[in-house]
Amino acid sequence: MNTLAPHLVRPPNSAMDEDALARLLLRYGVGQGEQAAVRAFGRIIRAGELEEALLSRFDLGEAAVGVEPSLRAFCTELARITEWDFTPAWPARLVDLWSECYLGGAVAEFPFIAIEALMASCQLHLFSDRAMVHRLELDILTALVRLGWCLGGLLSEVSIDHEQTFRLNAEDGDAVLGIPNRRRFLTLLADGLSRVADGQAVGLLVLDIEWGRSVDVLAMDERDHLRLALSDAMRAVLRSNDILCALGDDQWAVILPALQHPAQVSLAGSKLVDACEVLRGNNFPGQRGRFHAGGAWAPEHAADPLGLVHAARAALVAAKASGRAFDLYCSETAARSHGDAGFESEVARALEARQFQLHLQPQVELPSRRLVGAEALLRWRREGRGFASPPDILQVLERIGLMAELSRWVIQQAAQVLATLAAAGCEVAVSVNLVAEDLKDPELPLFIRQTCETWRVQESRMCFELTEGGLVSRDGMSARNLEALRVGGGRLALDDFGTGYSSMDYLRRLPVDELKLDKSFVERITITDNDRAIVELMVRIAHTFGLEVVAEGVEDAATEAVLNEMGCDRAQGYLYAPAMPIEQFIAWWKSRRDALVGTETP
Ligand code: C2E
Ligand code: CA
Ligand code: CA
Repeated sequence: MNTLAPHLVRPPNSAMDEDALARLLLRYGVGQGEQAAVRAFGRIIRAGELEEALLSRFDLGEAAVGVEPSLRAFCTELARITEWDFTPAWPARLVDLWSECYLGGAVAEFPFIAIEALMASCQLHLFSDRAMVHRLELDILTALVRLGWCLGGLLSEVSIDHEQTFRLNAEDGDAVLGIPNRRRFLTLLADGLSRVADGQAVGLLVLDIEWGRSVDVLAMDERDHLRLALSDAMRAVLRSNDILCALGDDQWAVILPALQHPAQVSLAGSKLVDACEVLRGNNFPGQRGRFHAGGAWAPEHAADPLGLVHAARAALVAAKASGRAFDLYCSETAARSHGDAGFESEVARALEARQFQLHLQPQVELPSRRLVGAEALLRWRREGRGFASPPDILQVLERIGLMAELSRWVIQQAAQVLATLAAAGCEVAVSVNLVAEDLKDPELPLFIRQTCETWRVQESRMCFELTEGGLVSRDGMSARNLEALRVGGGRLALDDFGTGYSSMDYLRRLPVDELKLDKSFVERITITDNDRAIVELMVRIAHTFGLEVVAEGVEDAATEAVLNEMGCDRAQGYLYAPAMPIEQFIAWWKSRRDALVGTETP
């Protein structure tokens, strides 16, 4: 842990004596009976079991050793809940550990999140999935929940005290926002970088706001109110161990420790800007402002704090120059943006001249491997240069504002594909990829319906894939527009699940039918137990919400076997086939069908 300023080491209220403890327990209804129940639970649970469950829940397990020692230590201690002898020593230790986490930049909600996770583990252990429970088990659960509330109350007081201290000590914290300031930011960043584990990344985002005149003329307290609201909105979309710092009046930084996938930097960056814009639009509609963010990650872009700050700022400058909300550091950005003006016009011409194609990648049902669908993927063969990468094409189309046109073209092609497949007797669904912008087009649902009518295909055989970033658009949740897409019977899939800040909350709130596990997750399930457990949990939760789960990027039989065990519904990947032109796809389907028929008939 970093060295803390002496006045920040201990919050004023952490002293815990017998009396204080007795009052606390009383306030939350933890009496003798509850204490006995918790001890009884301690005897039926294997030592270390809760700890394991909790650490893996936060990705703080073996793989992350040395990354977040303070959060890890806190969770480890919290998991000893069943060993508590109800003397003040244990809660006092918990308070100290939490102080350390809080001062290291953990979000104030973390204890609640951890306690909730702990309760979920206890419940799972007590009941697993039994429908009938014993009275005693219920008593134990009630006691644990009361105790959970009690600890939550205690720890949140600690956070409030610290926040207060931050406000009073402008030396380390921003006096208005109660978060670390520029000075402390560099210490925290250096700290995060010194702890990065092998194979992991530390991300850095810098966010800057260019306010219009209307904000310049605000009174001081109104401006503080605006900053505070923005700061809270940003904090709300970050992970619990991301650290939000105030660099200046209109500039913030976020340290993203222990990233498994550097792609999370971009996702967090876009999410941060979105959160600010949504807040401005909803709560401060009269204030004009432009939000930009730049991101970089260690060790790829720089391994030292100043270098990383420099890279993130360079990305911020690039974002401002291009008018984009977010940019990731790229040493060639400048070079590429000049050199590839040619590519840009080539792409625009290709779209206009209808030179793009859709290839189909099979989706099979598990475990039968029966063909049930296909994802339509964009392909463009450049004159004499082979296929261009779809992400490169899409980036250009987005930049020059032709995304909506591409999506309409893709939908038309997909309808045509469905008609061709039906004519060949291949009655499967076709998935198309859409983007956030498409949800803003109020005419799109009508366009889809008319296109399907033209090609005489059922809309219910189309599935629209949107990424998490696409679903949570600038104007907040686009649930209504999503519903409109489904009116004709088409399905909705949440694409690339697992890469972003995928919140289980989306699964509950958004009207989606299926969830696509990103290949970056799928490819790891045979490598680490941790990844496997996470994917398994995702499958289970998706099923709880009635969603079908499709695994992307399945490349080998071992991965497929694990997916089968987890009860994953469908799979897609090179193990079955890559994306193919439609004629080849039909031929592939026929040969497999014939092979299957061959094995079925004696
Ligand atoms: P995505 O939606 O995640 O699509 C899956 C990508 O994984 C495809 O890359 C596919 O070719 C690739 N893939 C499939 N199986 C495997 C496997 O077993 N191993 C590995 N390593 N990769 C596999 P592709 O075609 O390069 O497309 C990249 C991304 O471009 C897509 O990611 C999608 O986000 C976007 N995209 C493609 N076509 C369209 C389109 O028509 N419209 C829009 N809006 N986006 C598209
Ligand atoms: Ca997709
Ligand atoms: Ca993907």
